[in-house]
Amino acid sequence: NRQVKLFQIESEFTKKIARNKQIEMEAVMVQAQEIAEIDALTFLFNRRMIVKKLQDEVLRAERYNSLLSISVVDVDHFKIVNDTYGHSVGDEVLRQVAGQLQDHIRHPDIVGRYGGEEFLILLPSSDTNAAAEQATRLCKQMREMIVPINHDGQTLSVTISIGITQFQNGTDTWETLLNRADNAMYEAKNNGRDRWSVAE
Ligand code: GH3
Ligand code: MG
Ligand code: MG
Repeated sequence: NRQVKLFQIESEFTKKIARNKQIEMEAVMVQAQEIAEIDALTFLFNRRMIVKKLQDEVLRAERYNSLLSISVVDVDHFKIVNDTYGHSVGDEVLRQVAGQLQDHIRHPDIVGRYGGEEFLILLPSSDTNAAAEQATRLCKQMREMIVPINHDGQTLSVTISIGITQFQNGTDTWETLLNRADNAMYEAKNNGRDRWSVAE
């Protein structure tokens, strides 16, 4: 009888361990999924994920002939921030910029970190007027954002340039769309930065 009892206890114990292992495993899987989708610095969607979202939105716009605009956002003179204050201050600025973008877009818009100091915003069901309105707001938010950079109370500000374009059903692919937005962003840079430009 004692042996049977012991066996039962042992078997319960083994089951409990297996259950805990399962829970641990599931947590690891969730973490792996997040690493694959989320940028570790800004916690926005990473490049892989925002491109996937872009591809999905292009498919949807094609199928339902719905509106889709995108905005490419690039931090102005970011190299100077890094060179003047160091890379970790640069990182902090990027985190703050990302936070502002996330906070000031509206559902169902999506933002992701496309490159180093470059972000991509998808605006489903929106034309370039709506994207421009958003871009005006984002440029203003960024201009007014004050980033504390040390304990002496020193702060800095940055500006952004934005390139906007609208999906053309029948001619565009996600790549041509992205290219056009990128060119518009460079036009905004050439026109003096801290502004947006729409690709025709
Ligand atoms: P422009 O106004 O023309 O965009 O000038 P810029 O200086 O912003 O552009 P440039 O492409 O010359 O420099 C971008 C810099 O961003 C260079 C790179 O070292 C820095 N950078 C990219 N990724 C990161 C990052 O994760 N952290 C930090 N701190 N810097 C980064
Ligand atoms: Mg830049
Ligand atoms: Mg850049």
